[in-house]
Amino acid sequence: MRARIAAACEAVSRDVSSVTLIAVTKTYPASDVLTLARLGVLDIGESKDQEARAKLAELAEMAAFAEMTEPAELRWHLVGRLQTNKARSVATYAHAVHSVDRPKLASALADAVESATRSGRRTAGPLQVFVQISLDGDPQRGGVPEDGLAELCDLVAEREQLRLCGVMAVAPIDADADAAFAKLAELSERVRGAHPEAGAISAGMSGDLEAAIRHGSTHVRVGTALLGRRGPTFS
Ligand SMILES: *Cc1c(COP(=O)(O)O)cnc(C)c1O
Repeated sequence: MRARIAAACEAVSRDVSSVTLIAVTKTYPASDVLTLARLGVLDIGESKDQEARAKLAELAEMAAFAEMTEPAELRWHLVGRLQTNKARSVATYAHAVHSVDRPKLASALADAVESATRSGRRTAGPLQVFVQISLDGDPQRGGVPEDGLAELCDLVAEREQLRLCGVMAVAPIDADADAAFAKLAELSERVRGAHPEAGAISAGMSGDLEAAIRHGSTHVRVGTALLGRRGPTFS
């Protein structure tokens, strides 16, 4: 996978260090997270709070994991649609949420981080936030529509418990990935106009990471191409 990312970067003269690999371990066992951590892959992506928590608990009980120096350095990224009532839980362990797509969720996360930090359940500092954009306007798949993007980014940037990193999107099914990610790059630039620090782009999965890297992705979220085909899902 590192070689594939390196080749994609080289094809467009980008430095490989400008792309962070997030291993999406949804539906895979906690032991796979351990394996990844041993290989130095410390950015772990999960779709669901419940599954992430279960894996954290399992890892905490694994002696092999406890002996590693890295466990505390694992960074958990939530990449799936998130209900507001999960904010309190997510705030205790997450490094980043890539799927913030509405003001209510942003506020709930900020409040939850504040409260978790005050009570000592969170020591990681501000929560990194990627605002998820809907590229096809389909509300079912998550993402803020283009016309709500600026307002949502402003709201995230205003909260000291959150750090606006940039934007995220999933290429629409049946759409041309290059066109989708070109559009995302354009929206990212618009966001950066108001928030220069929010230059990250979370885009690219197993099937389309080359296209995403061509269009400036800084965070690729890869599951199946790293870990093999997913079995039946938990949900
Ligand atoms: C599952 C998932 C991924 C990883 O997908 P693969 O095709 O397995 O690489 C990336 N991003 C999101 C939002 C996902 O839900």
